[in-house]
Amino acid sequence: MVVKLLIFVLVGLVIYKFFGGKFPAFGKTKEEKKVEEDTLVECEKCGTYVTLKESIVVQGKHYCSKECANKNTGK
Ligand SMILES: [Zn+2]
Repeated sequence: MVVKLLIFVLVGLVIYKFFGGKFPAFGKTKEEKKVEEDTLVECEKCGTYVTLKESIVVQGKHYCSKECANKNTGK
């Protein structure tokens, strides 16, 4: 019986570790989104810091304005 319980706990721990990064996300989705919007990101072009909400994302990179985004892509 004790061994069974131990195995159960171990399996539980493995499952918990496996999903470790995802469990807290369920209840925090809204909060995390708000935090993310207020996060400052650096413009790839001119280095200006803008909030994620205001930044323009082009090919996974953040820019402060359309001008900066366009200058970088127009090679
Ligand atoms: Zn910029």
